[in-house]
Amino acid sequence: MKINGKTILHGIMGNPVSHSLSPAMHNSAFASLGLNCAYVPFPTADVQEAMAGFRALGVRGVSVTIPHKQAVIDFLDSIDPVAEKIGAVNTLLITDKKIKGLNTDWIGANRALEDCISLDGKKILILGAGGSARAIGFGLLEAGCSIMLASRTENKGRELAATLDCPWHPLDEIENLKADCLVNATSVGMNPDSNRSLMPRTSLSQFSVVMDIVYAPLETKLLREAKEEGCKVVNGTAMLLYQGVAQFELWTGRPAPLDVMRQELLAALTH
Ligand code: NAP
Repeated sequence: MKINGKTILHGIMGNPVSHSLSPAMHNSAFASLGLNCAYVPFPTADVQEAMAGFRALGVRGVSVTIPHKQAVIDFLDSIDPVAEKIGAVNTLLITDKKIKGLNTDWIGANRALEDCISLDGKKILILGAGGSARAIGFGLLEAGCSIMLASRTENKGRELAATLDCPWHPLDEIENLKADCLVNATSVGMNPDSNRSLMPRTSLSQFSVVMDIVYAPLETKLLREAKEEGCKVVNGTAMLLYQGVAQFELWTGRPAPLDVMRQELLAALTH
């Protein structure tokens, strides 16, 4: 599709954004459905100015990434209730100059797990107490799960556990915790430190499903060992893909071309 006077603009705001995989994923999806839409990076230092720019220029949809996921909230016209609970927005939907903030990170995590297991009533152990653990925790509660949190820094972990109304454990207790699924929402195992995993291998067989949200490398040490222990595994690209799929569907009102987006994402991650 050629860019012309009717092209509907989308993009990603953050600082930095030049490394983002989202332009490749969304532009390939627009092209495959023949939509006259484009998605570009918006390197953003001043959130207030950027938000005024999106309104003024008729931008339709924006992904929001580090460090602006909290700061954009002050400049929204409305916010989705789950995004409000999470306290972070990764998606803007702009209609008639009104900006609505949403969060599709939790939708991405839920859909990634739902490829392997039905979530309602399941018990999930989440490792980590950062931004992703928070979004994933609220999302799993929305899906009817009961959750447990384990993390390194006690006061931060206890604070998030209190917000999620769930138990908190230090990392030296995790090998004895029983659950249906394990989700690593820490950066442990990420390149270049890819030979690390928080969960001892001998405890992995108790989980039916193990998801790692780290996507570089595609197969972390945790996932390699979990697969060898007979668990179903979900790698970090699934959450990344499905959060983008949810954004695409919000912006266009059309079912996303899942295979095209998956292929483009994997190509960008492995090139
Ligand atoms: P964050 O807010 O900085 O939180 C990081 C968490 O990891 C914290 O709980 C931190 O512990 C924990 N951690 C870091 N190093 C640790 C160590 N050596 N031992 C134990 N815990 C450790 O980061 P985030 O935004 O949540 O992202 C976490 C990871 O997810 C990153 O690797 C990121 O690339 C990835 N991610 C993936 C997706 C996806 O779609 N797949 C989306 C977002 C992020 P403390 O509690 O002690 O601070």
